[in-house]
Amino acid sequence: MYFQPLVDIRNRNIVGAEALLRWHNPELGNVSPDEFIPIAEQTGLIIPIGQFVIEQAFSASHHWQSHFMSQFKIAINVSPKQFREDKFVDLLTSLLAQYHINPSSVELEVTEGVLLSGDQIINSNLSAINDIGVSISMDDFGTGYSSLSYLRSYPFDTLKVDKSFINDITVDPGDLELVGAAIAMGHGLNLSVVAEGIETEEQYQLLSALKCDYGQGYLFSKPLPKAEFEALLDAQHKPE
Ligand code: C2E
Ligand code: MG
Ligand code: MG
Repeated sequence: MYFQPLVDIRNRNIVGAEALLRWHNPELGNVSPDEFIPIAEQTGLIIPIGQFVIEQAFSASHHWQSHFMSQFKIAINVSPKQFREDKFVDLLTSLLAQYHINPSSVELEVTEGVLLSGDQIINSNLSAINDIGVSISMDDFGTGYSSLSYLRSYPFDTLKVDKSFINDITVDPGDLELVGAAIAMGHGLNLSVVAEGIETEEQYQLLSALKCDYGQGYLFSKPLPKAEFEALLDAQHKPE
């Protein structure tokens, strides 16, 4: 499990992390989650893996919430199959209690793939998650299909603008327009907006001018193992 800092755009302070899986295989080397997550989905292995991810993320955040920031935010990616489990919300509720995590500090990231099926179970799980006070964010916003109708129909709290749009905002006026519109729309719907994949100071300055709320990207930090992430928090909290 790796953790990538989520920063407040106004002051660049770390306010939380996204939990990201890593797999190092002795024969294959490092396998990207973009490759192994879809296979884990197909085989059903995503269910135990997903539970492992939530436990690791909660255990780390409990530590960071008690040592650094009580409101430290933890974002966890949830895949479609996990979401379709009828026991998903029960599992989430019991892990929140077991790791002493305040539901308001947790954000589950879903992609349109989760919503696409339109199953009733997805609807009821989304409302149940909302009811227990856990936030829901739309990941990779701008890619895929008709995200706008989903935003209206489901109880989202956050919009994560896909890094493919952030990538060219300094060179492509069209992308800059789109990102500005996504931020304005998010704010109009009372959502916070996160920009993914901020790599340069220039991108950061533009997003700051557009009043984007939060950011993630190599400019601030790559995803890090727990101990290295903690060193960043430690540095941020050292008295000047
Ligand atoms: P995602 O949720 O959109 O995660 C953001 C991806 O962008 C991560 O890739 C992260 O390392 C990468 N990234 C962050 N900042 C930058 C940047 O400045 N530049 C560039 N080029 N990339 C940046 P990663 O870790 O390879 O994960 C890929 C995808 O795999 C994730 O996309 C997510 O959909 C999925 N994934 C990762 N961990 C999990 C997990 O625990 N459960 C599930 N269901 N999916 C996961
Ligand atoms: Mg994500
Ligand atoms: Mg994303």
